[in-house]
Amino acid sequence: MSFESLGLRAELLRAVADKGYREPTPIQIQAIPPILEGRDIMGGAQTGTGKTAGFTLPLLQRLMASGDPENGRRVIRTLVLTPTRELAAQVGESVESYGKYLPLQSTVIFGGVKINPQIQRLRKGVDILVATPGRLLDHVGQKTVDLSQVDILVLDEADRMLDMGFIRDIRKVLALLPKQKQTLLFSATFSDEIKRLADDLLNAPALIEVARRNTAAESVTQVVHPVDKSRKRELLAYLVGSNDWQQVLVFTRTKHGANRLCKQLHTDGITAAAIHGNKSQGARTRALADFKAGQVRVLVATDIAARGLDIDQLPHVVNFELPNVAEDYVHRIGRTGRAGNEGEAMSLVCVDELMLLKDIERLVKRDIPKDVVEGFEPDPSIKAEPLHKGRGGQQRPAGKRTASRRNNPRANYKGRSNNQSRSGNRARHG
Ligand code: AMP
Repeated sequence: MSFESLGLRAELLRAVADKGYREPTPIQIQAIPPILEGRDIMGGAQTGTGKTAGFTLPLLQRLMASGDPENGRRVIRTLVLTPTRELAAQVGESVESYGKYLPLQSTVIFGGVKINPQIQRLRKGVDILVATPGRLLDHVGQKTVDLSQVDILVLDEADRMLDMGFIRDIRKVLALLPKQKQTLLFSATFSDEIKRLADDLLNAPALIEVARRNTAAESVTQVVHPVDKSRKRELLAYLVGSNDWQQVLVFTRTKHGANRLCKQLHTDGITAAAIHGNKSQGARTRALADFKAGQVRVLVATDIAARGLDIDQLPHVVNFELPNVAEDYVHRIGRTGRAGNEGEAMSLVCVDELMLLKDIERLVKRDIPKDVVEGFEPDPSIKAEPLHKGRGGQQRPAGKRTASRRNNPRANYKGRSNNQSRSGNRARHG
């Protein structure tokens, strides 16, 4: 199967060739034709499957086909909503790079940065807007964005948007869009809430489901290093140093834990940076750039911050702590072994986490090999202690937090600049 045979126009084929893609991924093969036909899509696909190009390429083509802007003024004809700033930025980059030979304009808006440059950019006119829901509503409130001409809507990582408490914001945005439009909904999981949203939104959608391009089984070597909790940091420093790893993504369960680990690694002489929802947008972007450039060896991240990050050829992922939710393990290790590269995922597991490990092994349908590192043997006399519950333990009922925001209208806009702080339990732990 070639990109040509999917019916894409020459400018898009050139852009795809520039990226070095030889053939479309399964999701691209499934999604591109129905999107080109104007159909709605319900796509079960995670980051790493090639999903972004799967919706971006055909929507660019449809925009070109729908003609020039009325009386020369560009209006927003495509809106892409994403849960996080990082994902918004990545989708924005994809739109730019796949559309580089087309005369279309796009921009990205998210919270945590100044709003004025965004207003100025919007004023100049764009065809495609990529946005996080909160900041988009800030613009709506200031009347700096017009959504009345949107004819393609993309909801990317819809499950994460709901997890993060964006449902009310999404519904508010939907109310501002024309009834007649093409809607593309992507989600890694299909909860009842997602199904309800899909029922309300989609019209005879084409159903598309693909597994990760690189499933755990294919290209990621997984191992568990049993170790005492108090010695995890020492073991991590030892692994980084003795293997001479230059680029490692390390997951912790909490923001606080990420900061602390980062400091400790510095004391061990290992360059590290943390990326999580309490960091300013500038700090997050800088940390990621330094990591990508090889100036920082260890990037310490929480699940929500790392979700959707596309870091090329990441060879090592370490679970400093196991996630509370087994699915997050799969997302985490999906950061390595991407696009056909070999990857290695290591989990430092203490006695408190053995139940979590069981859940994960059940989910990935295999036992993960255990390897005790010499000198770091766990002390058998240490008994398991209950873990601090995260979002997997007690989900906040939908809508609870929004009630308090209703009572405090300022909170509506204040909190928005930080998307990640809106995630209920995750905000406290992630
Ligand atoms: P996504 O799932 O959209 O986040 O894409 C994951 C990664 O796959 C990104 O680095 C893309 O640049 C890359 N990618 C997308 N489509 C293809 C393709 N057809 N061939 C090779 N790599 C691709």
